[in-house]
Amino acid sequence: MSNTVVEKKVDVLIVGAGIAGATLAANLAKMGKNIVVVERDLSERDVIIGELLQPGGVQKLQEMGFTSFLEHIDAQPVYGYDIIYKERDYLIPYPNKNGEPSGFGFRNGAFLQNIRKHILAHGNIRVIEGTVTQLIEKDNVILGATYKSKLGVDEENVYAQLTVVTDGPLSNFREKLSNPVKKVNGYFLGLLLKNCELPFANHGHLVMGDHPPMVIYPVTSRSWRVLIDFKGEKPPRLGRDFKKFLLEEFEQAIPQSARSAFVASVEEGKFKTFPNHRLPACPNKKAGAVLLGDALNMRHPLTGGGMTAAFNDVLRLSTNLERVTDFSDSRQVRKAIDKFYETRHLGTQTTNILADGLYGVVYNRDLRQAFFEYVSRGDKYAEETCSILAGLNKDKKLLLNHFIGMARYGTQLKINSEKSGVVVTESITMVKDAVGIITPLLLSEKPDPGNRLMLEALNRVI
Ligand SMILES: Cc1cc2nc3c(=O)[nH]c(=O)nc-3n(C[C@H](O)[C@H](O)[C@H](O)COP(=O)(O)OP(=O)(O)OC[C@H]3O[C@@H](n4cnc5c(N)ncnc54)[C@H](O)[C@@H]3O)c2cc1C
Repeated sequence: MSNTVVEKKVDVLIVGAGIAGATLAANLAKMGKNIVVVERDLSERDVIIGELLQPGGVQKLQEMGFTSFLEHIDAQPVYGYDIIYKERDYLIPYPNKNGEPSGFGFRNGAFLQNIRKHILAHGNIRVIEGTVTQLIEKDNVILGATYKSKLGVDEENVYAQLTVVTDGPLSNFREKLSNPVKKVNGYFLGLLLKNCELPFANHGHLVMGDHPPMVIYPVTSRSWRVLIDFKGEKPPRLGRDFKKFLLEEFEQAIPQSARSAFVASVEEGKFKTFPNHRLPACPNKKAGAVLLGDALNMRHPLTGGGMTAAFNDVLRLSTNLERVTDFSDSRQVRKAIDKFYETRHLGTQTTNILADGLYGVVYNRDLRQAFFEYVSRGDKYAEETCSILAGLNKDKKLLLNHFIGMARYGTQLKINSEKSGVVVTESITMVKDAVGIITPLLLSEKPDPGNRLMLEALNRVI
């Protein structure tokens, strides 16, 4: 049975108080909007997702006035990346010449609870702990949602001028509001390294070699998160021999100073896995609703760009909605949403392209070596690449130049170092591979591909 407890239409209903939903609620409430948030579980989550916020994401928090979300959670400033390739490494600092912020590493649950504490205390926001079971739709317009509260028995309805669906990577409702072409590229296995040092304190470490890639970054003052990639559509089998396999395959690749912590963590066996998706944004515009966060768009987490993309979107959407003078005027709301969908790529496309592009590179033997050699040249080769990774520089042309430049540099090195017909063929293949990786990524960032078939075809290529 369904009761209407909130008879009056609120301005905005938000489905999911995760990273994107809770921050949007905070920002819209600041603008005086009247908001209801429905979140299925308000307790602190213990997850391996969203634990490194790039400087570009911190910058967006600053612009919204929410840097307090990073306080009192033992968050660690992150100043750049150490790129480790086999026995060598190269340190690239984030840009900081013009007062750009550092990144931050933290436990995702602690960070999210800070955001939730803020919205729970806000007079304009009503937070309900409950699971949304369906969106209420009439004549192709979304009018709100039905939810079952955690403690209640009956289902209840909330009606809103605008429903924001931000129910995360495993969204139940994205099909209603988009034409998703989702692909699982693989899984991250997460481990915590406790009480150890890495070559560079307060830095991310990208570890590449003949093994699958790993990323390591600080999440508290005493622990580092390690994420190990497992390619393929199925999660790794955590069977009897799994610990042995992890030690054989990865122990030697972990920097020496952290090896015993790695072994201890493997022995402890508290493994967590999560699927890594690629989901280009492909919304279908439906009156009364908008998709946001991972429900709308996902990229590989190798570069830790998801929350930065989400905060870019949150700020863009709320700025558009701030201009709506009357939320009951559906035309005004619709215009704000259309503009959001049409322009959001300007804030997120370089983050998306770099994430899936670099993922392609680290699995290509020649290209990953070329990538290492290219950034090891320092200067703009390291600095500009890192500014894009940081989410501070959003110049798509610059990203493309570096991506292709990296492959060309790799061919140059190959040709200089060896002399045979095979090398020329391999060099041509390297550039072709780089173009093959980046082209579909560029195309799928177009704001309105409008064609599910095209995205499906592009997904098959990468
Ligand atoms: C392995 C992995 C590692 C990652 N690492 C990083 C990283 O280091 N840095 C980074 O920036 N990004 C990272 N990301 C991406 C990042 O985690 C996401 O981009 C970000 O969390 C998206 O936020 P969201 O609000 O869309 O989803 P979430 O934060 O997952 O929020 C969704 C919310 O919706 C709620 N919900 C779901 N269904 C319902 C329902 N029916 N009713 C009510 N509530 C509901 C959920 O409980 C949850 O609270 C990683 C991703 C993966 C997979």
